[in-house]
Amino acid sequence: MTTEQQSTYRIAVYPGSFDPVTMGHMDIITRASKQFDLLIVAVLNNLSKNPLFTVEERKDLLSRVTSHLPNVQIDSFRDLLANYVRTKNANVIVRGIRSVTDFEYELQLASTNHKLNPDAETIFMMTNPKYSYLSSSLVKEIAHFNGDTTDLVSPEVDLALREKFKGNAGR
Ligand code: ADP
Repeated sequence: MTTEQQSTYRIAVYPGSFDPVTMGHMDIITRASKQFDLLIVAVLNNLSKNPLFTVEERKDLLSRVTSHLPNVQIDSFRDLLANYVRTKNANVIVRGIRSVTDFEYELQLASTNHKLNPDAETIFMMTNPKYSYLSSSLVKEIAHFNGDTTDLVSPEVDLALREKFKGNAGR
């Protein structure tokens, strides 16, 4: 690839916990994949959180539900996001916004990342109103209590949730 091609080749990173990936995440991934040459969906390997799915499980689910999107790659990282983005030669960080509460946190995150890596621009995509209430935590809570998650996640994720909670009453 020539230097000129490199500078016009737009690589974006969409970081998150994705524990598990929801239809809200999928909506952002699908829309973002149309805006960039390569979209790297990066699972944050955050030791301080207590996830339901392992990083490998989350990556596997993400790979399966995005297999129809050729310019989407799945990865994980445990570095500072600003450093990870640099190692991937990415110039954009994609984040989704659902509410004013998201905005306040995301603004802080974007400002921090800008300070640490001024070359990377954070771009926000507004939630599809259909999914504005949807979060991984909500999906896990519903699945835990044997509720119906079929409209909230892809069939692969729905199955994985059933497997995780099959010891629970009613599953
Ligand atoms: P994090 O732990 O970093 O918040 P998440 O996996 O919860 O990771 O979310 C990753 C990104 O996706 C965040 O920018 C979050 O705001 C966004 N997001 C999550 N759910 C939705 C949704 N329903 N609609 C739009 N954006 C969303």
